[in-house]
Amino acid sequence: MDAPLRLLREVFGFESFRPPQAEVIAALLAGRDALVLMPTGGGKSVCYQIPAMLRRGVGVVISPLIALMQDQVAALRQAGARAGFLNSTLPAAEAFAVEQALRRGELDLLYLAPERLTQERTLALLAEIDLSLFAIDEAHCVSRWGHDFREDYLALNLLHETFPAVPRIALTATADARTRKEIVSRLALEDAELFLAGFDRPNIRYRVSLKNNPRAQLLRFLQDEHPGDAGIVYCLSRKKTEETAKWLGARGFAALPYHAGLAAEERATHQDRFLKEDGVIIVATIAFGMGIDKPDARFVAHLDLPKTIEAYYQETGRGGRDGLPADAWMVYGMQDVVKLRQMLENSEGGEEFKRIERVKLNAMLGFCEIATCRRHALLAYLDEDSPERCGNCDNCLAPVETWEATEAARKALSAVYRVGQRFGARHLIDVLRGASGGKVAQFRHQTLPVYGIGADLSANEWHSVFRQLVVRGYLRVDDRFGALMLEEKARALLRGSESLRLRRDPPPTALRPTAKPAAAATAAAAAPEYQNLDPALWERLRERRRRLAQTQGVPPYVIFHDTTLRAMAASRPRNLAEFAALPGVGQRKLERYGEGFLEVLREDADAAPSADDEESVAGGSGGEVVGQAALGV
Ligand code: ADP
Ligand code: ZN
Repeated sequence: MDAPLRLLREVFGFESFRPPQAEVIAALLAGRDALVLMPTGGGKSVCYQIPAMLRRGVGVVISPLIALMQDQVAALRQAGARAGFLNSTLPAAEAFAVEQALRRGELDLLYLAPERLTQERTLALLAEIDLSLFAIDEAHCVSRWGHDFREDYLALNLLHETFPAVPRIALTATADARTRKEIVSRLALEDAELFLAGFDRPNIRYRVSLKNNPRAQLLRFLQDEHPGDAGIVYCLSRKKTEETAKWLGARGFAALPYHAGLAAEERATHQDRFLKEDGVIIVATIAFGMGIDKPDARFVAHLDLPKTIEAYYQETGRGGRDGLPADAWMVYGMQDVVKLRQMLENSEGGEEFKRIERVKLNAMLGFCEIATCRRHALLAYLDEDSPERCGNCDNCLAPVETWEATEAARKALSAVYRVGQRFGARHLIDVLRGASGGKVAQFRHQTLPVYGIGADLSANEWHSVFRQLVVRGYLRVDDRFGALMLEEKARALLRGSESLRLRRDPPPTALRPTAKPAAAATAAAAAPEYQNLDPALWERLRERRRRLAQTQGVPPYVIFHDTTLRAMAASRPRNLAEFAALPGVGQRKLERYGEGFLEVLREDADAAPSADDEESVAGGSGGEVVGQAALGV
């Protein structure tokens, strides 16, 4: 067996490499540079960890995520790797000890904050010791194009100038071509081998519903499908994150707010609790998430629409990094569209910038409204081919009806024109449906030719028509007064040279999930052998993990990931040899934890299973897809 594979099995406890891990490792071992684009959860870390352990000298990992370094290093040490870190949070004495260990050749991996790297002292230290490689994590931080730009990442081009013989690997989950180009030029990676992994995250189930009572919708989603699970709820405003967290807290959830306006200390505490405790929900703005490698977030919920598909993809990608089923759940409505368009128009930045942002926002809106497979649309947006139907998104699981809406759309657009483009949807619907009194009487709109021509549709159906016309760019909403106005695109429809099909919205009361996922979807989302986990055993294993984590002050997943725990509960190993075969169990963890967990399994086998256990814990980690009926689109 070759050396990288042996390390993967013995240290990390995994059976085989995922594409393109083996190829990346080979390139680094051969002394070449590499640029790796892989989705979140794809397994970027071993790409540099294994070569760093195999090559002579220490591998220096540059990461902007100072708050997480300690946990990353703790996880490596748990697996028996020789790792340390240097950043501003480390007391001087400990930093000195790390430096000494480096000089003595006792470390294979050193995590370093970028601002630390440029210090004279650090450069002198690096010049003194053998270096196996430089890994530049979250490499998109070097790009001004994205939203994670970090000034101190620009200094990283000193790496190849100062240490030309040391191979470099840059890694990111940001896919778009423009960012990639900027990484290459800023880090001088023109000669690096490019590794592009597929961006699909098959275990994530995408679901978008119409907003009608967002909090109630969220509550039902959490109660029905994710009791006790950890996850992230994204909101647009700071205020809303705080209110939502409080509201969820009052309903028994461990929910904590996170946004850039909180004191640094509070932010750190909340992030820490999210990582270290089980079942914590973070209610956050976009300020939260980069590099959060908590593997077992079981859902990412959006109460507000993200501005771009890239942002949506990155945020939802923070769920299910361990490969177990996770939900990407979102509600959206007309107000989101209006608000985002307003923010965009009022933002600083030139016309060109706004034009690009507009295109991106429209793509995001289009994603919400499509009637076809969401995954296919997402991947197409990221330039990746995929099957027409994934079987694990709302539209695949419960196909959406569309209807021939050309005539209705024409009526709607005419009405907008006839009232002088000065009224919002509610009034337009009154006119179309022939309502009397109120503003209709006040403005004498009962005399218009469009008055009463839309009585065949309900008010809700008309709302749906207007919303979709706005989203698809036939209408726009006036910034100040909310009046609907015609866009250029409306002309062809009005003239009759174009036809239009629209989604049929479910009735607004259909909050309850209705459709059961098809069998194929279940198989795609979760390994069938994990379906019938004994929830009581699952809880006991989690409890054991929690205790071990607590005594060491590390997050539970640093001990074992959910994947390992679930495999444990499913296959019930009886001895250390069987235990060693579980995914995620390397040599070191086998020695440290094997007996302890075997004990839990033995106790469980001795206690005769009782039927009552069945209902004591609902869902555990939320991996149960069967019966977790899904889709309230
Ligand atoms: P990324 O940094 O790309 O988001 P990580 O390196 O954190 O991803 O890995 C994501 C998850 O996949 C982790 O739980 C990791 O242990 C697991 N993993 C990585 N490589 C493999 C592999 N070859 N086989 C099985 N699991 C793996
Ligand atoms: Zn699909």
